[in-house]
Amino acid sequence: MKSPETHLTDSDRSALADWFGHHRRDLPWRQSKDPWHIWLSEVILQQTRVDQGLPYFERFVERFPTVADMAAAELDDVLRLWEGLGYYSRGRNLYRASRYVIEERAGKMPTTFSEWLEMPGIGPYTAAAISSIAQGLPHAVVDGNVIRVLARLHGFSEPVDSNASKKTLQTWADAFLNRDSPGDHNEAMMELGALVCAPRAPKCDSCPLSDTCIAFREGRQESLPVKRKKKPVPHYDIAVGIIRNEDAQLYIQQRDTDAMLGGLWEFPGGKVEHGESPAEACRREVMEETGLDVIPVEQIATIKHAYSHFRITMHAFECALNGTGKSSSSQPHAWIAREEFGDYAFPRANRRLLELLSQEPD
Ligand code: SF4
Repeated sequence: MKSPETHLTDSDRSALADWFGHHRRDLPWRQSKDPWHIWLSEVILQQTRVDQGLPYFERFVERFPTVADMAAAELDDVLRLWEGLGYYSRGRNLYRASRYVIEERAGKMPTTFSEWLEMPGIGPYTAAAISSIAQGLPHAVVDGNVIRVLARLHGFSEPVDSNASKKTLQTWADAFLNRDSPGDHNEAMMELGALVCAPRAPKCDSCPLSDTCIAFREGRQESLPVKRKKKPVPHYDIAVGIIRNEDAQLYIQQRDTDAMLGGLWEFPGGKVEHGESPAEACRREVMEETGLDVIPVEQIATIKHAYSHFRITMHAFECALNGTGKSSSSQPHAWIAREEFGDYAFPRANRRLLELLSQEPD
């Protein structure tokens, strides 16, 4: 499919730049052109609201002021700081890429778009954002905010999540890019999407591009962008065992680094199979994962949690150990006391369970 041309002009570019000059938020990553800080902010802010990501950015910059500081740390240190942000692969990739800079690039940051793309876990969006904002290179970003703005400006009625539409949107973004100040232009487009061209009730009356916006002219701004219908989100019942040794320490294990939530720690357990009760699943899963024979004696919590592609209900059982407490798991595992709960990174649902356990009387 041939990409349609954009109708946006130089004066639209100027209007956007002028608006950004007056309305840009004073965010901490905008006070620096340090590629490491821009990189951190871009990774933290993917799939995350600015108000939620801001304290994480500040903690990361304080703990890892340079890429070398992160590369010298352990993955566990990064995941502990990442805890609560979700999409943990971002934290793992950030850590891998920091090591890549030190080990494969002799500590030298990439200086071109294609060098950024060679880094583990960095795709076209992040490469364009860092190289334009930190290094002034002419690459247009296309994130969720920019897609919405461009789709409305062009009155684009195709589903924006198809491959053909993504190409069209990138072509429009490239054509509209202000090559004299690509970083500011990219930030302005994202800022316009965040502050004015919001998903619901866009503030077209205060938009610098309303004169040129096809959706606004046709009164279609609320119905764009179009997205393909989402499949229903699957739901799984999960059973986990709370197992204590004679010193009242709890058994936890670390997830495989390559798995979803990889590198995080959790209570042993797994999916409840068809025809199985949660207590039966708890006993079976604990045995399969750890070799420990346990008797689930009481269900102590039911926790619901939504991940990006599925939802879970976690059934947590207080378990009695039947036999020795010697785990045969090949995964890293540990017995931890209540005071050590903060020393390990846990997924959100497990952390909520730990919070309940912390409230138990001594
Ligand atoms: Fe978005 Fe309205 Fe501006 Fe169009 S006029 S870009 S719909 S805020």
